[in-house]
Amino acid sequence: MKVAVLSESSADEAAVQVLVGSILGREIQIVSVSARRAHGISGVFNVLPAAFKELHYHTDADGVVVVVDSDHLPIHEERHEQPGGADERCRRCKLRQVVSRVQGGLRAVPGRSPLKVAFGVAVPIMEAWYLCGTDPRVNEATWKLGLQARSDPYTKLALKKGVYGTERPSLSLETQRAITEAQRLTRDLPLLERLFPSGFGALAQDLRRW
Ligand SMILES: [Zn+2]
Repeated sequence: MKVAVLSESSADEAAVQVLVGSILGREIQIVSVSARRAHGISGVFNVLPAAFKELHYHTDADGVVVVVDSDHLPIHEERHEQPGGADERCRRCKLRQVVSRVQGGLRAVPGRSPLKVAFGVAVPIMEAWYLCGTDPRVNEATWKLGLQARSDPYTKLALKKGVYGTERPSLSLETQRAITEAQRLTRDLPLLERLFPSGFGALAQDLRRW
């Protein structure tokens, strides 16, 4: 299966590829996107329309997976799924809106099935997933309580330090740790789904519908 992965950094993309292959339970071939983009969340949102069009018209990709960080924004909830319930601030809702707008403007290509899509949101950043099962304090429920109380249970820098041993890792250290932790997580995906239901569980559900 041919899949494109868009995330906030190449290290995150490497980890997402490992997780996606494991959820799909088959070998995936990565389709790269030539549209240029900047690192970070705005890079993903800026490039998404052009990348989606490129994948539709100029590649034989079967699907695209987009994973971003939630940072301090609201976590996706069941009520966002209701008609008119989408929350603009929620990144899963926003990704969906951007992609459905782009999909609506695409011409059908003979013999081409519509691209399958799957969205993930790491709460609050990918490093929280990498610590799943290692640091029991780190999960969506704890972060959500912190959002409600306006008091972070842990900082993003502390999560980075927990994963890399430093708050400022090099890209090669980031990539190496991301892949190692993603491989570890594939040995217990139900745990990652249980502790990160809105961000990772929803991604896994999207992929299982492919
Ligand atoms: Zn939402």
